[in-house]
Amino acid sequence: MNKTEFMKQAETLYEELRAWRAAHDEASFDEIAEQVTGQRQKLMGELLRMLAEQNGQGEMLEERNCAACGGVLHYKGKKQREVLHPEGTAALERGYHHCDECGHGVFPPG
Ligand SMILES: [Zn+2]
Repeated sequence: MNKTEFMKQAETLYEELRAWRAAHDEASFDEIAEQVTGQRQKLMGELLRMLAEQNGQGEMLEERNCAACGGVLHYKGKKQREVLHPEGTAALERGYHHCDECGHGVFPPG
């Protein structure tokens, strides 16, 4: 997602919230906040995903040993990883590394 797309989504969020408010004359402050939170988490989830992936997707340049048993970790390609956070939910594609000795799995950096 580039800056233009992000700004466009922020604009959509603004317009949707304004339209929702126009249609909900009697809404309490808490109800308004509830709308904002849901919309914000969608947009911020996208932003979080972008920032998390900005410096790479967890490919390790050098072989690393398994923290659990000391075996060698093998790269197993990218895996979808859903990260839940109060600021937003992000579906990340991260490089996954797996230890064949004990089955321990790692998404670098941790
Ligand atoms: Zn291991």
